[in-house]
Amino acid sequence: AAKGLGRNRYHYFTPSMQEYAKYRMLLIRDLRKAISKQEFEVYFQPIIDMNTMKVLKAEALIRWHHPERGIIPPSEFIPVAEETGLIIDIGNWVFEEAAKQSAYWREQYGVEIQISINKSPVQFRDERGSFESWIKQLKELKLDSHGICIEITEGLLLDVDSGVSEKLLAYRDAGIQVSLDDFGTGYSSLSYLKKFDIDYLKIDQSFTQNLASDSDDQALCEAIIVMAHKLGMKVVAEGVETQFQLATLVEAGCDYGQGYLFSKPIPAKAFEEKYILGLSELAKVSS
Ligand code: C2E
Ligand code: MG
Ligand code: MG
Ligand code: MG
Repeated sequence: AAKGLGRNRYHYFTPSMQEYAKYRMLLIRDLRKAISKQEFEVYFQPIIDMNTMKVLKAEALIRWHHPERGIIPPSEFIPVAEETGLIIDIGNWVFEEAAKQSAYWREQYGVEIQISINKSPVQFRDERGSFESWIKQLKELKLDSHGICIEITEGLLLDVDSGVSEKLLAYRDAGIQVSLDDFGTGYSSLSYLKKFDIDYLKIDQSFTQNLASDSDDQALCEAIIVMAHKLGMKVVAEGVETQFQLATLVEAGCDYGQGYLFSKPIPAKAFEEKYILGLSELAKVSS
């Protein structure tokens, strides 16, 4: 049948669609088993306080060690997990791991690290008791005072029907802070910055990364920082990779930075060795 098609591109289109469908089916099949097979791991990326250069915050970022394919990045499986609803269980697992890790570091080393956890809009729409369970765990682990921050994206704030405003207030009451991730890339409307209770704005890495070459991006970063401060929010710059970007952001009054200049996301043990042990020594010396 393919003969008559000649060089027609559609000839190639169909099999690739089929391949994609098959790939997706296999991915979903494997994703369903990944939690119980303990294939996920939470990595931690330090968030640096730009005033003191200390690390007292970190972002939890999931990694999937696929038995045949090696590490699959979240950009490849989180969207599928969202479409299938598997993100609920995965998100609860990430929360539990991150919270336990933070409590362990506090108990073992006397160091309090606030951990940021990404929460997708799907998790807000269909909580299945997650909220109550998270609050309960935080109380049990004594992390109910700013030990955890959740990162949400701008799209969530447009979803007027999902009771987001009330939920964010409930999080606040439970001692959880809220970060607005990838700020400036979504369907931004500045009006929601006053409507919702948000503690941190995370400047998207696309702005940070053009700081040297694009004076418009520099102006945008400066304006975002001034605006956030006036509204009582702190600013985290994502994707800081160079000394120049760091210096520009410090100059502009940015509060926190995160990026490869400081560290890539790393496993819990590596984070402990690189960041917690030093802080633990400092805590001993000063007490
Ligand atoms: P995000 O929340 O915006 O996380 C920041 C991403 O930027 C991470 O990618 C991080 O590794 C990367 N990054 C950090 N510093 C730099 C830098 O200096 N340069 C560059 N080029 N990249 C940098 P990652 O870990 O691949 O995660 C991608 C996205 O997947 C996250 O974006 C988040 O939206 C989602 N994600 C990751 N873990 C979870 C999770 O546990 N739950 C949910 N719902 N989403 C997650
Ligand atoms: Mg994030
Ligand atoms: Mg981000
Ligand atoms: Mg991002």
